[in-house]
Amino acid sequence: MTGQRPAAERATDRWADVRRRLRARGLRWTPQRRVLLEVLAGVDGHVTGAELVERTRRIDPTTTPSTVYRTLDVLEGLGLVSHSHGLEGRQEFHVNPRADHGHLVCPGCGGSWELAPDEVAELVAGLRDGRGFEVAVDHLTIEGRCADCARAGMARA
Ligand SMILES: [Zn+2]
Ligand SMILES: [Zn+2]
Ligand SMILES: [Zn+2]
Repeated sequence: MTGQRPAAERATDRWADVRRRLRARGLRWTPQRRVLLEVLAGVDGHVTGAELVERTRRIDPTTTPSTVYRTLDVLEGLGLVSHSHGLEGRQEFHVNPRADHGHLVCPGCGGSWELAPDEVAELVAGLRDGRGFEVAVDHLTIEGRCADCARAGMARA
């Protein structure tokens, strides 16, 4: 055990009440849900829904994917996790989402990268001015070829 950092303490506070809040939304507090929360507490950065199902089932094999996804939906409503989309629209989850960011994904190598809001500021402003459309940057995923894959493709050509 390392010493608790202030950020970690704040994150713990946000989760402290989650049992009561799940109940308030009509969800029972089950061992499976408790295990999912334990798994989420150990996640840093991005994790796919499938990974969460797998890690949860490793601890409690009775957990079903629908329990995991339904609980994630509710936790998202509480602001404790957020989702974005990876390759082929697969859901990926962020625990304790801090800042808005989008994602770049490359099917060639399976890589994904965070996209800072200022990298898409022009696109966002253009769509707002031109169409009155508000882009949800934290839900924005752009698929394409990364620099390495683009170079490899050129070398083959
Ligand atoms: Zn979505
Ligand atoms: Zn790539
Ligand atoms: Zn992300």
